[in-house]
Amino acid sequence: MGLFSADIHTMDDLFLHTLQDIYYAENQIVRALPEMIEKATDKQLAQGFKTHLEETKGQIRRLEQVFKLLGKEPQGVDCPATDGLIDEAEDVAGDIDDKQVLDAALIGAAQAVEHYEIARYGTLMAWAKTLGHQEAIRLLKQNLDEEKAADDKLSKLAESSVNRKAA
Ligand code: ZN
Ligand code: FE
Ligand code: FE
Ligand code: FE
Repeated sequence: MGLFSADIHTMDDLFLHTLQDIYYAENQIVRALPEMIEKATDKQLAQGFKTHLEETKGQIRRLEQVFKLLGKEPQGVDCPATDGLIDEAEDVAGDIDDKQVLDAALIGAAQAVEHYEIARYGTLMAWAKTLGHQEAIRLLKQNLDEEKAADDKLSKLAESSVNRKAA
């Protein structure tokens, strides 16, 4: 069974599949963030990850509302991209002994995940518009805005202090 298996025929199917993809991704992120929090030395970085962990749980609840609007049970489908990004984050973190360099690496890894999420939510919003899922757009936009804000916060933290301490 490939990524686009035979059960995707219509844009509605594709929308649902992609919703299931980001639902799986958000749940994997909830599982991965505690380790990121533990590994972070910079207090602001650890706090930022904690805040985003709580936000992510809220994002999952919003996605569950979108499933409900579609009359579907919340369900994930494997997202090899997210699994890969998380694996890569763990691999590189395992290879770094300097705590300040590790902080810079954690930010880089987290931003890769944020950018995946931003891509998915942007696409889902565009499709929701086309399909006329008005209420879903509102919920997806809230998630998108949180991902963008998390990404901006990570950039600012990296550029204002973490990268300099690591260098
Ligand atoms: Zn179909
Ligand atoms: Fe998220
Ligand atoms: Fe995916
Ligand atoms: Fe995120």
